[in-house]
Amino acid sequence: MNNTQGKHYNITTFGCQMNSADSERMAGILEKMGFQYEEDPNKADLILYNTCTIRDKAEQKVYSYLGRQAKRKQEKPDLTLIVAGCVAQQEGENLLRRIPELDLVMGPQHANRLEDLLEGVFNGDRVVATEPIHIVEDITRARRESEVTAWVNVIYGCNERCTYCVVPSVRGIEQSRTPEAIAAEIKDLGEKGYKEITLLGQNIDAYGRDLPGSTASGRHKHTLTDLLYYIHDIPGIERIRFATSHPRYFVERLIVACKELPKVCEHFHIPFQSGDNDILKAMSRGYTHQKYRSIMEKIRKYMPDASISADAIVGFPGETEAQFENTLQLVEDIGFDQLNTAAYSPRPGTPAAIWENQVSEEVKSDRLQRLNHLVAVKAAERTQRYLGRVEEILVEDQNPKDPNQVMGRTRGNRLTFFTGDIQDLKGKIVKVKITQVRAFSLTGERVF
Ligand code: SF4
Repeated sequence: MNNTQGKHYNITTFGCQMNSADSERMAGILEKMGFQYEEDPNKADLILYNTCTIRDKAEQKVYSYLGRQAKRKQEKPDLTLIVAGCVAQQEGENLLRRIPELDLVMGPQHANRLEDLLEGVFNGDRVVATEPIHIVEDITRARRESEVTAWVNVIYGCNERCTYCVVPSVRGIEQSRTPEAIAAEIKDLGEKGYKEITLLGQNIDAYGRDLPGSTASGRHKHTLTDLLYYIHDIPGIERIRFATSHPRYFVERLIVACKELPKVCEHFHIPFQSGDNDILKAMSRGYTHQKYRSIMEKIRKYMPDASISADAIVGFPGETEAQFENTLQLVEDIGFDQLNTAAYSPRPGTPAAIWENQVSEEVKSDRLQRLNHLVAVKAAERTQRYLGRVEEILVEDQNPKDPNQVMGRTRGNRLTFFTGDIQDLKGKIVKVKITQVRAFSLTGERVF
Protein backbone atom coordinates (compact mmCIF):
# COMPACT_ATOMS: atom_id res chain seq x y z
CA MET A 1 0.00 0.00 0.00
CA ASN A 2 1.36 3.45 -0.96
CA ASN A 3 2.32 5.72 1.95
CA THR A 4 -0.21 8.58 1.88
CA GLN A 5 1.04 10.24 5.06
CA GLY A 6 1.61 13.94 4.40
CA LYS A 7 0.20 13.62 0.91
CA HIS A 8 -2.36 16.10 -0.39
CA TYR A 9 -5.29 15.75 -2.76
CA ASN A 10 -7.37 18.17 -4.78
CA ILE A 11 -10.77 17.53 -6.40
CA THR A 12 -12.31 19.72 -9.10
CA THR A 13 -15.99 19.06 -9.77
CA PHE A 14 -17.85 19.93 -12.95
CA GLY A 15 -21.59 19.60 -13.62
CA CYS A 16 -24.58 18.69 -11.49
CA GLN A 17 -25.44 18.11 -7.84
CA MET A 18 -25.01 14.34 -8.35
CA ASN A 19 -21.36 15.00 -9.22
CA SER A 20 -20.98 17.26 -6.19
CA ALA A 21 -22.34 14.50 -3.95
CA ASP A 22 -20.00 11.92 -5.60
CA SER A 23 -17.01 14.26 -5.09
CA GLU A 24 -17.86 14.70 -1.41
CA ARG A 25 -17.84 10.91 -0.95
CA MET A 26 -14.58 10.46 -2.90
CA ALA A 27 -12.98 13.22 -0.78
CA GLY A 28 -14.11 11.34 2.33
CA ILE A 29 -12.48 8.15 1.04
CA LEU A 30 -9.18 9.93 0.28
CA GLU A 31 -9.12 11.49 3.76
CA LYS A 32 -9.82 8.08 5.31
CA MET A 33 -6.78 6.86 3.34
CA GLY A 34 -4.66 9.61 4.98
CA PHE A 35 -4.64 12.26 2.27
CA GLN A 36 -5.23 15.89 3.28
CA TYR A 37 -7.20 18.41 1.24
CA GLU A 38 -5.21 21.03 -0.70
CA GLU A 39 -7.01 24.06 -2.17
CA ASP A 40 -4.32 24.66 -4.79
CA PRO A 41 -4.15 21.82 -7.33
CA ASN A 42 -0.55 22.78 -8.14
CA LYS A 43 0.45 21.78 -4.63
CA ALA A 44 -1.44 18.47 -4.60
CA ASP A 45 0.04 14.95 -4.96
CA LEU A 46 -3.25 13.52 -6.21
CA ILE A 47 -5.55 15.35 -8.61
CA LEU A 48 -9.09 14.17 -9.35
CA TYR A 49 -11.35 15.76 -11.95
CA ASN A 50 -14.99 14.75 -11.54
CA THR A 51 -16.33 15.52 -14.99
CA CYS A 52 -19.55 16.38 -16.86
CA THR A 53 -20.51 15.60 -20.45
CA ILE A 54 -24.06 16.98 -20.56
CA ARG A 55 -22.94 19.47 -23.23
CA ASP A 56 -19.84 19.65 -25.41
CA LYS A 57 -18.60 22.80 -23.65
CA ALA A 58 -18.68 21.02 -20.28
CA GLU A 59 -16.72 18.11 -21.71
CA GLN A 60 -14.03 20.28 -23.33
CA LYS A 61 -13.33 22.06 -20.03
CA VAL A 62 -11.53 19.12 -18.42
CA TYR A 63 -9.01 18.68 -21.25
CA SER A 64 -7.42 22.08 -20.68
CA TYR A 65 -7.09 21.38 -16.95
CA LEU A 66 -5.64 17.91 -17.66
CA GLY A 67 -3.14 19.35 -20.13
CA ARG A 68 -1.62 21.55 -17.43
CA GLN A 69 -1.33 18.75 -14.88
CA ALA A 70 0.02 16.28 -17.47
CA LYS A 71 2.85 18.78 -18.07
CA ARG A 72 3.42 19.09 -14.31
CA LYS A 73 3.75 15.31 -14.06
CA GLN A 74 6.90 15.47 -16.15
CA GLU A 75 8.57 17.30 -13.23
CA LYS A 76 6.67 15.35 -10.54
CA PRO A 77 6.38 11.68 -11.71
CA ASP A 78 4.65 10.54 -8.46
CA LEU A 79 1.70 12.87 -9.16
CA THR A 80 -1.48 10.76 -9.36
CA LEU A 81 -3.92 11.95 -12.06
CA ILE A 82 -7.55 10.76 -12.03
CA VAL A 83 -10.54 11.45 -14.28
CA ALA A 84 -13.90 10.47 -12.75
CA GLY A 85 -17.52 11.16 -13.67
CA CYS A 86 -19.36 11.22 -16.97
CA VAL A 87 -16.51 12.00 -19.42
CA ALA A 88 -14.55 9.11 -17.86
CA GLN A 89 -17.52 6.79 -18.42
CA GLN A 90 -18.07 8.05 -21.96
CA GLU A 91 -14.41 7.89 -23.06
CA GLY A 92 -12.97 5.06 -20.91
CA GLU A 93 -9.79 3.49 -22.42
CA ASN A 94 -9.59 6.26 -25.08
CA LEU A 95 -8.74 8.72 -22.32
CA LEU A 96 -5.74 6.64 -21.22
CA ARG A 97 -4.53 6.57 -24.82
CA ARG A 98 -5.19 10.27 -25.31
CA ILE A 99 -3.43 11.31 -22.05
CA PRO A 100 -0.51 8.98 -21.23
CA GLU A 101 0.04 10.74 -17.86
CA LEU A 102 -3.40 9.58 -16.59
CA ASP A 103 -3.41 6.87 -13.86
CA LEU A 104 -7.10 6.19 -13.30
CA VAL A 105 -10.30 6.59 -15.35
CA MET A 106 -13.40 5.77 -13.30
CA GLY A 107 -17.12 6.09 -14.12
CA PRO A 108 -19.71 7.56 -11.68
CA GLN A 109 -20.88 4.11 -10.55
CA HIS A 110 -17.36 3.42 -9.22
CA ALA A 111 -17.09 6.50 -6.96
CA ASN A 112 -17.42 4.40 -3.78
CA ARG A 113 -14.65 2.05 -5.00
CA LEU A 114 -11.93 4.74 -5.16
CA GLU A 115 -9.74 3.13 -2.48
CA ASP A 116 -9.73 -0.29 -4.22
CA LEU A 117 -8.99 1.31 -7.59
CA LEU A 118 -6.10 3.33 -6.16
CA GLU A 119 -4.63 0.06 -4.81
CA GLY A 120 -3.99 -0.93 -8.44
CA VAL A 121 -2.59 2.50 -9.31
CA PHE A 122 -0.17 2.46 -6.38
CA ASN A 123 0.98 -0.99 -7.58
CA GLY A 124 1.99 0.69 -10.83
CA ASP A 125 -1.06 -0.09 -12.99
CA ARG A 126 -3.06 2.32 -15.15
CA VAL A 127 -6.68 1.54 -14.27
CA VAL A 128 -9.99 1.92 -16.14
CA ALA A 129 -13.23 1.25 -14.21
CA THR A 130 -16.28 1.83 -16.38
CA GLU A 131 -18.03 -1.56 -16.37
CA PRO A 132 -21.65 -1.41 -15.10
CA ILE A 133 -21.81 -2.46 -11.44
CA HIS A 134 -24.33 -2.56 -8.62
CA ILE A 135 -23.49 0.53 -6.58
CA VAL A 136 -22.43 -0.48 -3.08
CA GLU A 137 -23.47 1.61 -0.10
CA ASP A 138 -20.47 3.51 1.26
CA ILE A 139 -20.36 4.37 4.91
CA THR A 140 -17.22 6.51 4.56
CA ARG A 141 -17.88 9.98 5.90
CA ALA A 142 -18.32 12.28 2.94
CA ARG A 143 -16.26 15.45 3.13
CA ARG A 144 -19.17 17.82 2.60
CA GLU A 145 -18.80 21.32 1.16
CA SER A 146 -21.35 22.76 3.63
CA GLU A 147 -21.85 22.30 7.38
CA VAL A 148 -25.49 23.34 7.12
CA THR A 149 -26.98 21.71 3.98
CA ALA A 150 -26.26 18.25 2.56
CA TRP A 151 -26.91 16.27 -0.61
CA VAL A 152 -28.39 12.80 -0.10
CA ASN A 153 -28.47 10.49 -3.11
CA VAL A 154 -31.65 8.41 -3.19
CA ILE A 155 -31.51 6.95 -6.72
CA TYR A 156 -28.57 6.65 -9.11
CA GLY A 157 -28.81 6.47 -12.91
CA CYS A 158 -31.80 6.83 -15.24
CA ASN A 159 -33.92 4.42 -17.33
CA GLU A 160 -35.45 7.14 -19.49
CA ARG A 161 -34.35 7.58 -23.09
CA CYS A 162 -34.64 11.30 -23.77
CA THR A 163 -33.15 11.53 -27.25
CA TYR A 164 -30.76 14.40 -26.40
CA CYS A 165 -29.47 13.06 -23.11
CA VAL A 166 -26.20 11.26 -22.42
CA VAL A 167 -26.98 10.53 -18.74
CA PRO A 168 -28.39 6.99 -19.10
CA SER A 169 -25.31 5.88 -21.05
CA VAL A 170 -22.84 7.39 -18.56
CA ARG A 171 -24.66 6.92 -15.23
CA GLY A 172 -26.32 3.58 -16.01
CA ILE A 173 -29.64 2.08 -15.00
CA GLU A 174 -31.74 3.24 -12.06
CA GLN A 175 -30.49 1.99 -8.70
CA SER A 176 -32.54 3.14 -5.68
CA ARG A 177 -31.00 3.10 -2.22
CA THR A 178 -33.14 1.45 0.46
CA PRO A 179 -35.23 3.75 2.67
CA GLU A 180 -33.33 2.38 5.67
CA ALA A 181 -29.90 3.30 4.22
CA ILE A 182 -31.16 6.78 3.31
CA ALA A 183 -32.69 7.28 6.77
CA ALA A 184 -29.44 6.16 8.43
CA GLU A 185 -27.45 8.75 6.46
CA ILE A 186 -29.97 11.50 7.30
CA LYS A 187 -29.99 10.51 11.00
CA ASP A 188 -26.19 10.83 11.01
CA LEU A 189 -26.46 14.27 9.35
CA GLY A 190 -29.03 15.42 11.90
CA GLU A 191 -26.74 14.35 14.75
CA LYS A 192 -23.93 16.32 13.14
CA GLY A 193 -25.95 19.54 13.14
CA TYR A 194 -27.02 19.64 9.48
CA LYS A 195 -30.31 21.51 9.11
CA GLU A 196 -31.27 20.92 5.48
CA ILE A 197 -31.04 17.95 3.15
CA THR A 198 -31.69 17.71 -0.59
CA LEU A 199 -32.71 14.28 -1.85
CA LEU A 200 -31.07 13.70 -5.25
CA GLY A 201 -31.95 11.69 -8.34
CA GLN A 202 -31.67 12.36 -12.08
CA ASN A 203 -35.34 11.33 -12.25
CA ILE A 204 -36.29 11.35 -8.58
CA ASP A 205 -39.91 10.39 -9.31
CA ALA A 206 -38.59 6.98 -10.32
CA TYR A 207 -37.39 6.40 -6.75
CA GLY A 208 -38.17 2.92 -5.51
CA ARG A 209 -39.56 1.37 -8.68
CA ASP A 210 -36.55 -0.96 -8.84
CA LEU A 211 -36.90 -1.94 -5.18
CA PRO A 212 -38.86 -5.10 -4.33
CA GLY A 213 -42.42 -4.94 -3.01
CA SER A 214 -45.71 -3.40 -4.09
CA THR A 215 -48.88 -2.40 -2.26
CA ALA A 216 -52.28 -4.16 -2.46
CA SER A 217 -53.31 -1.62 -5.11
CA GLY A 218 -50.30 -2.68 -7.15
CA ARG A 219 -48.48 0.60 -6.59
CA HIS A 220 -44.76 0.39 -5.92
CA LYS A 221 -44.21 -0.04 -2.18
CA HIS A 222 -41.40 2.47 -2.20
CA THR A 223 -41.98 5.83 -3.86
CA LEU A 224 -40.59 9.33 -3.34
CA THR A 225 -43.81 10.29 -1.54
CA ASP A 226 -43.49 7.34 0.88
CA LEU A 227 -39.84 8.21 1.42
CA LEU A 228 -40.73 11.78 2.41
CA TYR A 229 -43.13 10.51 5.09
CA TYR A 230 -40.55 7.91 6.20
CA ILE A 231 -37.69 10.36 6.80
CA HIS A 232 -39.72 13.44 7.83
CA ASP A 233 -39.42 13.12 11.60
CA ILE A 234 -35.70 12.41 11.79
CA PRO A 235 -34.41 14.74 14.57
CA GLY A 236 -32.22 17.77 13.80
CA ILE A 237 -33.20 18.17 10.13
CA GLU A 238 -35.50 21.20 9.69
CA ARG A 239 -35.77 21.43 5.91
CA ILE A 240 -36.18 18.80 3.19
CA ARG A 241 -35.81 19.45 -0.56
CA PHE A 242 -35.65 17.09 -3.54
CA ALA A 243 -34.56 17.22 -7.22
CA THR A 244 -34.93 16.54 -10.12
CA SER A 245 -38.60 15.78 -10.88
CA HIS A 246 -39.94 14.35 -14.16
CA PRO A 247 -43.35 15.57 -15.45
CA ARG A 248 -44.04 12.10 -16.89
CA TYR A 249 -44.12 10.53 -13.39
CA PHE A 250 -45.03 13.51 -11.22
CA VAL A 251 -48.08 12.58 -9.09
CA GLU A 252 -50.67 14.60 -7.12
CA ARG A 253 -49.98 12.41 -4.08
CA LEU A 254 -46.51 13.99 -3.92
CA ILE A 255 -47.93 17.53 -3.92
CA VAL A 256 -50.30 16.58 -1.08
CA ALA A 257 -47.34 15.21 0.90
CA CYS A 258 -45.35 18.41 0.32
CA LYS A 259 -48.31 20.44 1.59
CA GLU A 260 -48.85 18.22 4.64
CA LEU A 261 -45.22 17.73 5.72
CA PRO A 262 -43.96 20.92 7.45
CA LYS A 263 -40.24 20.31 6.80
CA VAL A 264 -40.67 19.81 3.04
CA CYS A 265 -39.94 23.15 1.38
CA GLU A 266 -42.36 24.75 -1.10
CA HIS A 267 -40.00 24.50 -4.06
CA PHE A 268 -40.27 22.20 -7.07
CA HIS A 269 -37.66 21.70 -9.81
CA ILE A 270 -39.50 20.21 -12.80
CA PRO A 271 -37.74 20.50 -16.19
CA PHE A 272 -40.13 20.86 -19.17
CA GLN A 273 -37.44 21.25 -21.86
CA SER A 274 -39.87 22.44 -24.60
CA GLY A 275 -43.35 24.01 -24.84
CA ASP A 276 -44.11 22.26 -28.13
CA ASN A 277 -45.71 18.80 -28.27
CA ASP A 278 -43.98 17.71 -31.49
CA ILE A 279 -40.60 18.62 -30.03
CA LEU A 280 -41.47 16.89 -26.73
CA LYS A 281 -42.34 13.79 -28.78
CA ALA A 282 -39.05 13.98 -30.70
CA MET A 283 -37.28 14.32 -27.34
CA SER A 284 -39.13 11.20 -26.04
CA ARG A 285 -40.06 13.11 -22.91
CA GLY A 286 -43.37 11.26 -22.55
CA TYR A 287 -45.69 14.17 -21.76
CA THR A 288 -47.40 17.10 -23.51
CA HIS A 289 -47.29 20.80 -22.65
CA GLN A 290 -50.92 20.42 -21.53
CA LYS A 291 -49.86 17.73 -18.99
CA TYR A 292 -47.05 19.99 -17.78
CA ARG A 293 -49.44 22.92 -17.39
CA SER A 294 -51.90 20.75 -15.43
CA ILE A 295 -49.09 19.83 -12.99
CA MET A 296 -48.37 23.54 -12.50
CA GLU A 297 -52.08 24.21 -11.89
CA LYS A 298 -52.26 21.40 -9.31
CA ILE A 299 -49.18 22.66 -7.46
CA ARG A 300 -50.59 26.18 -7.36
CA LYS A 301 -53.98 24.88 -6.23
CA TYR A 302 -52.42 23.24 -3.17
CA MET A 303 -49.52 25.67 -2.66
CA PRO A 304 -50.26 29.03 -4.35
CA ASP A 305 -46.92 30.51 -3.27
CA ALA A 306 -44.72 27.54 -4.19
CA SER A 307 -41.49 28.30 -6.04
CA ILE A 308 -41.09 26.56 -9.36
CA SER A 309 -37.88 26.17 -11.32
CA ALA A 310 -37.23 24.21 -14.48
CA ASP A 311 -34.85 23.47 -17.38
CA ALA A 312 -35.41 24.25 -21.06
CA ILE A 313 -33.53 23.46 -24.26
CA VAL A 314 -33.66 25.65 -27.38
CA GLY A 315 -32.62 24.66 -30.90
CA PHE A 316 -33.44 20.95 -30.62
CA PRO A 317 -33.09 19.33 -34.08
CA GLY A 318 -35.97 20.37 -36.32
CA GLU A 319 -37.25 23.10 -33.96
CA THR A 320 -39.05 25.74 -36.05
CA GLU A 321 -39.60 29.36 -35.07
CA ALA A 322 -43.27 28.53 -34.32
CA GLN A 323 -42.28 25.62 -32.08
CA PHE A 324 -39.77 27.83 -30.25
CA GLU A 325 -42.53 30.37 -29.71
CA ASN A 326 -44.54 27.65 -27.98
CA THR A 327 -41.68 27.44 -25.48
CA LEU A 328 -41.77 31.22 -25.02
CA GLN A 329 -45.55 31.06 -24.56
CA LEU A 330 -45.27 28.38 -21.85
CA VAL A 331 -42.64 30.45 -19.99
CA GLU A 332 -44.86 33.54 -20.34
CA ASP A 333 -47.92 31.67 -19.01
CA ILE A 334 -46.34 29.85 -16.08
CA GLY A 335 -43.88 32.47 -14.78
CA PHE A 336 -40.99 30.49 -13.31
CA ASP A 337 -38.99 31.64 -10.30
CA GLN A 338 -35.91 30.28 -12.06
CA LEU A 339 -35.32 28.63 -15.43
CA ASN A 340 -32.03 26.99 -16.45
CA THR A 341 -31.72 27.40 -20.20
CA ALA A 342 -29.35 25.79 -22.71
CA ALA A 343 -28.87 25.49 -26.45
CA TYR A 344 -29.13 21.93 -27.74
CA SER A 345 -25.68 20.25 -27.87
CA PRO A 346 -25.35 16.97 -29.81
CA ARG A 347 -23.92 14.32 -27.46
CA PRO A 348 -22.04 11.15 -28.45
CA GLY A 349 -24.25 8.07 -28.60
CA THR A 350 -27.55 9.96 -28.29
CA PRO A 351 -30.22 9.45 -31.03
CA ALA A 352 -30.80 13.15 -31.81
CA ALA A 353 -27.08 13.83 -32.37
CA ILE A 354 -27.13 12.13 -35.79
CA TRP A 355 -30.42 13.56 -37.07
CA GLU A 356 -30.22 15.52 -40.32
CA ASN A 357 -32.35 18.47 -39.21
CA GLN A 358 -29.83 20.11 -36.87
CA VAL A 359 -30.48 23.81 -36.09
CA SER A 360 -27.65 26.28 -36.86
CA GLU A 361 -25.54 27.77 -34.03
CA GLU A 362 -26.70 31.30 -35.01
CA VAL A 363 -30.36 30.38 -34.64
CA LYS A 364 -29.63 28.56 -31.35
CA SER A 365 -27.86 31.53 -29.79
CA ASP A 366 -30.56 33.95 -31.04
CA ARG A 367 -33.27 31.81 -29.43
CA LEU A 368 -31.25 31.37 -26.22
CA GLN A 369 -30.87 35.13 -25.92
CA ARG A 370 -34.58 35.75 -26.45
CA LEU A 371 -35.53 33.05 -23.96
CA ASN A 372 -33.06 34.34 -21.33
CA HIS A 373 -34.49 37.82 -21.73
CA LEU A 374 -38.03 36.56 -21.10
CA VAL A 375 -36.85 34.45 -18.14
CA ALA A 376 -35.31 37.52 -16.48
CA VAL A 377 -38.48 39.58 -17.07
CA LYS A 378 -40.73 36.88 -15.58
CA ALA A 379 -38.41 36.19 -12.65
CA ALA A 380 -38.39 39.92 -11.85
CA GLU A 381 -42.21 39.86 -11.87
CA ARG A 382 -42.33 36.75 -9.67
CA THR A 383 -39.86 38.12 -7.14
CA GLN A 384 -42.06 41.16 -6.41
CA ARG A 385 -44.26 39.00 -4.16
CA TYR A 386 -41.49 38.87 -1.57
CA LEU A 387 -41.25 42.62 -1.01
CA GLY A 388 -42.26 43.54 2.55
CA ARG A 389 -42.82 39.90 3.55
CA VAL A 390 -41.13 38.25 6.53
CA GLU A 391 -39.32 35.11 5.35
CA GLU A 392 -37.60 32.30 7.26
CA ILE A 393 -33.96 32.17 6.12
CA LEU A 394 -31.62 29.25 6.87
CA VAL A 395 -28.24 30.96 7.20
CA GLU A 396 -25.60 29.08 5.23
CA ASP A 397 -22.60 31.38 4.90
CA GLN A 398 -21.08 34.86 4.93
CA ASN A 399 -21.80 37.01 1.87
CA PRO A 400 -18.48 36.64 -0.06
CA LYS A 401 -18.97 40.18 -1.38
CA ASP A 402 -19.77 41.83 1.98
CA PRO A 403 -18.33 40.47 5.28
CA ASN A 404 -21.00 42.37 7.28
CA GLN A 405 -23.69 40.31 5.61
CA VAL A 406 -24.71 36.67 5.81
CA MET A 407 -26.60 34.68 3.17
CA GLY A 408 -29.12 31.88 3.12
CA ARG A 409 -32.31 30.72 1.39
CA THR A 410 -36.03 31.09 1.80
CA ARG A 411 -38.12 27.90 1.88
CA GLY A 412 -38.75 28.80 -1.80
CA ASN A 413 -34.99 28.43 -2.42
CA ARG A 414 -34.42 32.14 -3.09
CA LEU A 415 -30.98 33.42 -2.08
CA THR A 416 -31.26 36.16 0.54
CA PHE A 417 -28.69 38.55 2.04
CA PHE A 418 -28.95 40.49 5.31
CA THR A 419 -26.67 42.06 7.90
CA GLY A 420 -25.50 39.59 10.49
CA ASP A 421 -22.55 37.76 12.06
CA ILE A 422 -21.90 34.35 10.52
CA GLN A 423 -20.28 33.03 13.73
CA ASP A 424 -23.55 33.71 15.51
CA LEU A 425 -26.05 32.80 12.79
CA LYS A 426 -24.59 29.86 10.81
CA GLY A 427 -27.09 26.99 10.63
CA LYS A 428 -29.86 29.02 12.27
CA ILE A 429 -33.30 29.71 10.77
CA VAL A 430 -34.13 33.36 11.40
CA LYS A 431 -36.93 35.73 10.37
CA VAL A 432 -35.99 38.40 7.81
CA LYS A 433 -38.17 41.20 6.45
CA ILE A 434 -37.53 41.57 2.70
CA THR A 435 -36.68 45.17 1.81
CA GLN A 436 -35.18 44.74 -1.65
CA VAL A 437 -35.97 42.29 -4.47
CA ARG A 438 -33.92 41.34 -7.56
CA ALA A 439 -34.81 38.82 -10.28
CA PHE A 440 -32.92 35.97 -8.59
CA SER A 441 -32.08 37.16 -5.03
CA LEU A 442 -33.38 39.23 -2.11
CA THR A 443 -32.05 41.56 0.60
CA GLY A 444 -33.66 42.07 3.98
CA GLU A 445 -33.40 43.04 7.62
CA ARG A 446 -33.50 40.64 10.51
CA VAL A 447 -36.68 40.83 12.62
CA PHE A 448 -36.45 39.68 16.25
S1 SF4 B 1 -34.87 11.91 -17.46
FE1 SF4 B 1 -34.14 12.25 -19.55
S2 SF4 B 1 -33.02 14.19 -19.39
FE2 SF4 B 1 -33.24 13.41 -17.31
S3 SF4 B 1 -31.38 12.25 -16.91
FE3 SF4 B 1 -32.92 10.82 -17.66
S4 SF4 B 1 -32.60 10.66 -19.87
FE4 SF4 B 1 -31.56 12.51 -19.14
